[in-house]
Amino acid sequence: MKTITEQKPFEEIGESLGEAKRVYLIGCGTCATMCATGGKSEVLKMKDRLDEIGKRVTGWMVIPTACDDLTREAVTENAEAIGQAEALLVMTCAFGVQTVARYTDKPVYPALNTLFIGKEDAPAHFSEVCIQCGNCVLGRTAGICPLTACPKGLLNGPCGGYKHGMCEVDPNRECAWVEIYNRLKRMDQLEKLSVLQPLKDHSKMAHPRHMSTGR
Ligand code: SF4
Ligand code: SF4
Repeated sequence: MKTITEQKPFEEIGESLGEAKRVYLIGCGTCATMCATGGKSEVLKMKDRLDEIGKRVTGWMVIPTACDDLTREAVTENAEAIGQAEALLVMTCAFGVQTVARYTDKPVYPALNTLFIGKEDAPAHFSEVCIQCGNCVLGRTAGICPLTACPKGLLNGPCGGYKHGMCEVDPNRECAWVEIYNRLKRMDQLEKLSVLQPLKDHSKMAHPRHMSTGR
């Protein structure tokens, strides 16, 4: 699973940098590289675009995994060039941005929007697979997540808008509940559909979420 990101509009990036003339750029070698939003080539392109609007890039790096604790060492190793900058522009997911922000007192700005946790289901195409709802129902839905596969996140069967088995919101894809039904049928588990699923317990998604493993 990867964190899926998109690049913010360049105008928004320029606005967040504001008066800062000297900028240090940080990319990520994992998810943002895979999404082509914050790998080496995107970082270098961003450097050129910042040059064009009169910003000076004091340095740049692509941290192997920006959300990892090794980010601290990367920031320390590049302290001189970072020290010359008035702001850091971080081309990673929001987790990476927050990690970088922990290790510097400079203003840190995100260059990307963090969209969802997903998987690559076709080359360069990513799909959301789980919203971490805190109460997984996959055991009752044949391993298909109704919260991400159904655009309405319905927990107890289809909305009635589906046509010829296809979703009314996205007619190019099969209705998630038709998929769930067919899979349960193949597994001889259709009786699972007669059990009403309770309303989602949104307290499980109250922020910030914490968990102790007891290790
Ligand atoms: S039901 Fe869906 S969103 Fe909830 S934990 Fe399971 S896969 Fe994730
Ligand atoms: S047609 Fe199916 S997948 Fe589409 S919104 Fe309705 S229940 Fe969800």
